[in-house]
Amino acid sequence: MKTIGVDLGGSHVLATMVDDGGKIVDRAEHDIVDLTFDVAIKTIGAAIDDVLKGAKENVAGIGLGSPGNIDLSTGTVKYSPNFGWHDVPLGERLRERFKMPVFIANDARSATLGEHTYGAGRGTANFVLLTLGTGIGGGIVAEGTLLVGNNAGAGEVGHHQIRATDGFHCNCGKVGCFEAQASGTGLIRHALAIAPSFPRSTLVSGKPEKLGSKAIRRAAEAGDPHGLAAWNRYIDDLARGIANIIAFVNPEMIALGGGVAGAGDFLLNAVRPKADELTTMVPRGRTQIVAASLGNDAGAIGAATMARRGGLTTKEH
Ligand SMILES: [Zn+2]
Repeated sequence: MKTIGVDLGGSHVLATMVDDGGKIVDRAEHDIVDLTFDVAIKTIGAAIDDVLKGAKENVAGIGLGSPGNIDLSTGTVKYSPNFGWHDVPLGERLRERFKMPVFIANDARSATLGEHTYGAGRGTANFVLLTLGTGIGGGIVAEGTLLVGNNAGAGEVGHHQIRATDGFHCNCGKVGCFEAQASGTGLIRHALAIAPSFPRSTLVSGKPEKLGSKAIRRAAEAGDPHGLAAWNRYIDDLARGIANIIAFVNPEMIALGGGVAGAGDFLLNAVRPKADELTTMVPRGRTQIVAASLGNDAGAIGAATMARRGGLTTKEH
């Protein structure tokens, strides 16, 4: 049985056809140039059409991961700051158009379902996924169950404050959120904040808005003093947030995905001892901190899994 998994991002939509082993057998990617709902829904529909065209057998349903807070029963996007959407009937419109079951969930929760079912978290009962990209997306599996929460908001770990007095301003309006400090954007903020102390640094020689997190990581790997100082501050904040999550959830594994996690062992070897150091209320060294394994496909694979299971759940029915 095949299902369609869709991952909706701010600049593009990825539609995939996924088999019941979690393998992507077909994919289509379309750019989203206009975030207005009526225009975006056409782009989403066109991407789904592309993978439906190649399907040789019946397709059981569509799952979609979208940024924002989602009403899981209807698939209405209640609120999506990235898209400027309020109460848009995404699920209803896709059901009307494709005449099949449609399930919508938050994109980070969808990616967590994917990583837990087919990726790094496979076989774990207590698992956390953190995607370190423009923001920090997260999801929590506790005792085998993906936490959804009262208003489908469980797992928004990006917005716990780790530097409430001396941190960076977060897009959510608070100061020093985990996301503001330890996302890819956070790494850039650290580099810019300490730039005056490194007058000879070439890292910010161009326009500050052109600086990317990868360039900083590469500079740190090469031993550049400015890059290394920014990286160390970043690692401190990442470890601080991870230690909090260990205290909240006591997971057996935390998988790191997203752009910054592309640093692999350079990141993991730096963050593990610091997270251990800051772990106080549970035994140290018992949470494996690893790289996520599905990369940018986690969200789409999780969405397809959701369509197969009939909802955002770790349980096969
Ligand atoms: Zn925040």
